Amino acid sequence: MRSLRVTSAIELKSAGELEAMRAAGLVVARTLAAITDATKPGVSTGELDALAEELIRDADAVPSFKGYHGFPGSVCASVNEQVVHGIPSDEQVLADGDLLSIDCGAILDGWHGDAAVTIAVGDVAAADRALSDATHAAMSAGLDAVRPGGRLTDISYAVQNAAAAASARDGVEYGLITTYGGHGIGTSMHMEPFLPNAGKPGRGPRLRPGMALAVEPMLTGGTDETVELDDGWTVITADGSRAAHWEHTVAITDDGGWILTAPE
Ligand code: MG
Ligand code: MG
Repeated sequence: MRSLRVTSAIELKSAGELEAMRAAGLVVARTLAAITDATKPGVSTGELDALAEELIRDADAVPSFKGYHGFPGSVCASVNEQVVHGIPSDEQVLADGDLLSIDCGAILDGWHGDAAVTIAVGDVAAADRALSDATHAAMSAGLDAVRPGGRLTDISYAVQNAAAAASARDGVEYGLITTYGGHGIGTSMHMEPFLPNAGKPGRGPRLRPGMALAVEPMLTGGTDETVELDDGWTVITADGSRAAHWEHTVAITDDGGWILTAPE
């Protein structure tokens, strides 16, 4: 059990520091927008990775994933049954109908931004679009649950409820991945607290202005079980069903949540 009760370990940022995190978040937002535009059948995830690195470095920032515990890419590129942590490759050429998740992090002036999008490659099956939309809705519900004075697992509960609502609406039992989740962020990418993607509300640390969190649900078209490949990174669904992943970095302010990785 991770220490949901430790509040003293959670980094608090000043208003000026949150402005600096917003600048880092904008680098991530612009990079993800450019990658989304560049994604089409015939493009490799290696090419998208090179584009991301160029854009991040041109903004005088550093791709936070590059070299992170030895990760070789500047972004994670997870295709179809890959859930997260896919390694970009020139050999992985995208095909019409693929579902691609890109996770991107950037460090600017010592502050981190972290966000992910799921992109339809060409003409994607309606079920895969619905899966991505359901995951996006779960993220949005989690972000909407961010408020000063609230509790950490209010976000978890909102994510879980939105995933269940999408399952009911779409007539599909989406798998909600709970072995991975969100996290605190600021002077490092992964900080306390761990943010579960499911659970009862009203638990964990109280949300205070100056905290920043990455909210990142992952849904699948089937199982909630995952397997890590022998490359030591790529996480796939245990049943081969497709997966989607959406993420934003959000700050807690006196007025509520401030999405630091939102486009301008
Ligand atoms: Mg991320
Ligand atoms: Mg993250």
